[in-house]
Amino acid sequence: MPDKPLYELTIHEAGKLLAAKDISAVALMDSVLTRIDKVEPLVDAYITICRESALKQAEAADRMIEKGNAGPLTGIPLAIKDLICTKGHLTTCGSKMLADFIAPYDATVMEKLNAAGAVMTGKVNMDEFAMGSSTENSAFKTTKNPWNTKHVPGGSSGGSVVAVAADMCLGSLGSDTGGSIRQPASHCGVVGLKPTYGRVSRYGLVAFASSLDQIGPITKDVTDAAILLGGISGYDPRDSTAANIPVSDYLKGLSNGIKGMTIGIPREYMEAEGIDSEVAGAISNAIRVFRDAGAKCIDISLPHAPHAVSAYYIIAPAEASSNLARYDGVKYGFRDTSGSDLVEMYTNTRHTGFGAEVKRRILLGTHALSSGYYDAFYKKASQIRTLMRQDFISAFECCDVILSPVSPTAAFKIGEKADDPLQMYLSDIFTISANLAGIPGISVPCGFTATGLPIGLQLMGNYFEEATILNAAYFFEQTSRIHLKKPELNV
Ligand code: GLN
Repeated sequence: MPDKPLYELTIHEAGKLLAAKDISAVALMDSVLTRIDKVEPLVDAYITICRESALKQAEAADRMIEKGNAGPLTGIPLAIKDLICTKGHLTTCGSKMLADFIAPYDATVMEKLNAAGAVMTGKVNMDEFAMGSSTENSAFKTTKNPWNTKHVPGGSSGGSVVAVAADMCLGSLGSDTGGSIRQPASHCGVVGLKPTYGRVSRYGLVAFASSLDQIGPITKDVTDAAILLGGISGYDPRDSTAANIPVSDYLKGLSNGIKGMTIGIPREYMEAEGIDSEVAGAISNAIRVFRDAGAKCIDISLPHAPHAVSAYYIIAPAEASSNLARYDGVKYGFRDTSGSDLVEMYTNTRHTGFGAEVKRRILLGTHALSSGYYDAFYKKASQIRTLMRQDFISAFECCDVILSPVSPTAAFKIGEKADDPLQMYLSDIFTISANLAGIPGISVPCGFTATGLPIGLQLMGNYFEEATILNAAYFFEQTSRIHLKKPELNV
């Protein structure tokens, strides 16, 4: 038996114990459920806790192990962001619009996890339709940061990262359109990876901005990120943007060391306005760790990076305004019947069903796409996006990995930016470019502020070079051991 409670195990630790039959999947799930019962009232991470189905899945996993059919995810309790369709369970997207929506099918990532024998602990909280950087935009509740419950966990995958950071699951899936895996992972001291666009199927992921959205793993360490990424990646004929490129053995690549690796440090990021001095200090320390181990750290330029936030807040809302047109009270989801005709039904449904941030994005996006404004806004933003992609392609001609902060500050206080959307948008200044270009990025813990809030380091890689950034992140994690510190929750 391990020397710590089962809920504290990583995926790779639990996998070994399960395979050796030292623990059972049912005992592991029981331990996680007990932990959820204790911690959930403090952090509000879950929207749905799947008690009965999780125990049934755990029993099935034990049978798979007994028969010798187990893999690295068999019997592993995972929490799923509530915008990934799960047959038979609610998929609310953190919205009143889908408060009662039960998807009639599983997303491809869920089919893969189910086939691997993973166990779904439940569906976790998020900013409505993944729009936000704090998880304060959920229609149901505000998730709290386990390191200090007066602070936000970041967003939009706040429920996913808190479930991992507070040991209410062993790993989780989030989605990242402009930073929603990496930014909350950074704020809660866990590992979060946004894969290359097309690495993971989006079939069954409720769309926010389809050309930017990717599902990715959120885990307690880098080894687990490699395992979970391997479990969800791959070609899918049901998603025309899923790449038909073989999936590497991410776990195997982890011990390759970083000697001879060239790391690019983008000057536009390091000189950006508004970087907190403690964040800058933690990033400088991280650069030193790489340099001391024989990596070559060079200064690079991403000349169009300063335009990332502006381009993103045209493109993402434009796509969102189109994607969210389907919520009209007719096809599925919420319907407001208080009006007297069809137009009133549409209007009232969308007025009551969507929250303020979603409405703001729909207005922005509709305006940017409207005739007369299209060229000035959407077309311009798309041109900037192409230039940003070229910046990265040129940068990766002289470096293997790009290193930067994840977020300019540590987690802010609940309510601090809630009435100031522009300030909120700026918290993704360092993560958005990877989505616009479609490259992979990982957030790995690299320090703490004086008040004890986590700080994350971002490593970005070339297209489909997830193995390279995982390997660099693994080296940093194993050298710094910062990820081993856990939040103290009074339970
Ligand atoms: N914070 C960004 C936004 O609100 C990114 C969200 C995301 O990645 N889903 O659009």
